Amino acid sequence: MKLPELSPAFKKAQSFISSREAEFRERLFEFLRFPSVSSDSRRRGDVARCAEWVRKRMREAGLKVELVPTEGHPIVYGERPGRPGGPALLVYGHYDVQPADPSKEPWRQDPFEPVVESGSVVARGASDDKGQVLALLCGIRAALEAGLGEDLHLKVLIEGEEEVGSQSLMPFVSREKERLRAEAVVIADSTQFAAGLPAITYGLRGILCLEIIVRGPKKDLHSGSYGGAVANPAMVLARMVAACHAPFGKVAIPGFYDKVRPLDDQEREEIRKLPFSDREFQEEVGAPKLWGEEGYSVLERRWARPTFEVNGLVSGHTGEGMKTVLPAEARAKISMRLVPDQDPEEIGRLASEYIQSLAPASAAVEVKLHHGARPVLVRCDTGAVRAAMEAIAVGFGREPVFVREGGSIPVVNTFKEALGTDSILIGLGLPDDGAHGPNEKFSLDDFRRGMVTMAALIEKLGKTGEGH
Ligand SMILES: [Zn+2]
Repeated sequence: MKLPELSPAFKKAQSFISSREAEFRERLFEFLRFPSVSSDSRRRGDVARCAEWVRKRMREAGLKVELVPTEGHPIVYGERPGRPGGPALLVYGHYDVQPADPSKEPWRQDPFEPVVESGSVVARGASDDKGQVLALLCGIRAALEAGLGEDLHLKVLIEGEEEVGSQSLMPFVSREKERLRAEAVVIADSTQFAAGLPAITYGLRGILCLEIIVRGPKKDLHSGSYGGAVANPAMVLARMVAACHAPFGKVAIPGFYDKVRPLDDQEREEIRKLPFSDREFQEEVGAPKLWGEEGYSVLERRWARPTFEVNGLVSGHTGEGMKTVLPAEARAKISMRLVPDQDPEEIGRLASEYIQSLAPASAAVEVKLHHGARPVLVRCDTGAVRAAMEAIAVGFGREPVFVREGGSIPVVNTFKEALGTDSILIGLGLPDDGAHGPNEKFSLDDFRRGMVTMAALIEKLGKTGEGH
């Protein structure tokens, strides 16, 4: 792909960005100083102050903004109307962060007092998602100052509950469906494929969680006096869980693969071309050997094949020393990652039926279904995706690669279900930014590239007849 020609107005936006570098960096530091930990009720005031700060930045960017109170934390929503009948873009991000307890996690400094180390800002939320959100807002400000994309209806939604499940987002989006309607949703809450290799994520796995509870005797028994005459729930559970896997890394639940869309040759070829080393991946995870479904590469296993994973097993005595007990109960927490076109509800039913069919008469088995989310596969041949590709090429100096992600991003489903709109996931961060972990960081170069990308996207989408 040839890098697109830059217009004089776009150059104006670019110089606005370079001339304000120090100011934008200071803004990023201010943003990061709010301990906006959405899961911590003691931080409610900090979260609210952070929302207020975001409102100011959005107003400064040229948007008409409102702070929407919710049962949880406020949603900040801003708009800039375009030409009547013009295209609309919805930008999404979040200002809340994961907890950062330096006494449990080895932070080198106060997680809410940002410092710069080797060209990156280090603080909780640097990459997930404050750095990325602010890059978009600064990009919007630069674009509007330069008069780019005047036809485009710009809609920006920054929520404060992403890290706790976005409980208030779905009701808000359904209620404001008409107002939020857009040709494309842009989300910057993911990563590039590697340093210097920007990516658009076009696929996400879905999820279904369930819990298996096996109950045996009415209370824990002496394993000497009773063992051998009463079935052990831990053993029963272990057999049942093991029976959910078939040889060669496959899942044994009947019907599990019926709706799985096979990878086509072209996509497999694209994945194969990505710079990825099995050896480095193995070193990164530290497992003695890699494992997975036969016939698929590591990236295919993580992105495009479904799984059945044990997240937790609890039974009997797990404390210090030995205790010769025959436990009354055993529990397993399971998550299944789903791929198109598996349906979480159907998979939940198939899994429950199969697990129940494995239950011996000597124990009572309960299967509890928890939350689910559909897998996502976005069309890559739309005008909006092409515009995003070109914008990234301008911002990062090279075209993005197309990747999938093994995890689930529930807001993508929210926008799809409520608005019928696909999300374009532009990752500004790096895979090793350490989101949710200690010493989270975000490259200041990527911060600037993100601003330029956003300004370029507004110009691209704002031209009548393009981008949708
Ligand atoms: Zn995030």
